Amino acid sequence: MHIMPLNKKKSISVVVPLFNEEKSIRSFHKSLVEVLSRTKLEFEIVYVDDGSIDDTANVINKFKDKRVKLVALSRNFGKEIALSAGVATGKYEAIIMLDGDGQHPVELIPEFISQWQSGSDVVIGLRKASSGRSALGRMNSYLFYKLFNLISGQKLIPESTDFRLIDRDVADEFNKISEDHRMTRFLIDWLGFDRSYVNFDAKKREHGEASYSTGKLINLAFNSMISSSPKPLYFFAYLGVMICLLSLFLGIAVILEQLILSDPLGWKFTGTAMLGILIIFLVGIVLMSQGIISVYISRIHNQSKGRPLYVVNKRKSVGLSSQKILKYKS
Ligand code: UDP
Ligand code: MG
Repeated sequence: MHIMPLNKKKSISVVVPLFNEEKSIRSFHKSLVEVLSRTKLEFEIVYVDDGSIDDTANVINKFKDKRVKLVALSRNFGKEIALSAGVATGKYEAIIMLDGDGQHPVELIPEFISQWQSGSDVVIGLRKASSGRSALGRMNSYLFYKLFNLISGQKLIPESTDFRLIDRDVADEFNKISEDHRMTRFLIDWLGFDRSYVNFDAKKREHGEASYSTGKLINLAFNSMISSSPKPLYFFAYLGVMICLLSLFLGIAVILEQLILSDPLGWKFTGTAMLGILIIFLVGIVLMSQGIISVYISRIHNQSKGRPLYVVNKRKSVGLSSQKILKYKS
């Protein structure tokens, strides 16, 4: 995989997912090449055509530039998969990923590179809270991150975006992750390594429309929560226990007060109400037993994700041959 000697930090791959960007791509490409040429690094640009139905692929083919690669997916797989395909294709010492609609300013690429060259393995673009989005959009993403962090136990920064640089070591580990329903930035966060941040102002989209509808986003949020934590499964088990305990106490109180002591407190419980308590009790039991099944399911779910048990930072480890590292991974 390493076609360059390690620690030279002289070459980068830029990965850009594209879906129907024929209007943006020419000017985007021009400014990207300009910025990259100024860095004096060796570079390649990996465009991933995510099943565009417009002229995106043809426009790229006309660039006639050896440094440009085009990965054309067979259909629209969504940005997350497109990014993964690009990361798997990029061969150089670091990979920078950014949107092709111009919302991630290419002028900041040198900043990402210099943080990488001074030692960060992951450089993350943070979007200034107010830029380029509606109040509703901002609130959505704030709530989403709060909820996500709560459920998954991770600590993600709400402003963090997919505008990122990852070192070759991180990219190699990322490429081993095979789970679907993926969200690139969460997986990169999960991988760890040394990170630093670059702030940027997101520009407004110049052409076309954002292809992430609110529905798609909710779906993505739901999927990444489900795949990052079993907590939603346990929630109903706890609920079952609570319901059972409450209705048990209520049931005992009613039996004592009404049937045995013949209603000294004047509760006047009807037969229907007692039936109600019984049913609630049974519902609690059903939820609880579902919860036990859930524990088994969550084990299966965890295993079936096939994530490695842990990830080794090979560069920082001492005295481990790559074979040893492989053997440690159970
Ligand atoms: N994109 C993609 N596949 C899709 C949707 C979007 O590759 O199914 C690309 C799109 O061309 C752009 C980037 O992902 O380069 C971000 O997409 P968009 O601007 O629609 O999302 P937002 O800015 O709302 O995050
Ligand atoms: Mg966009």
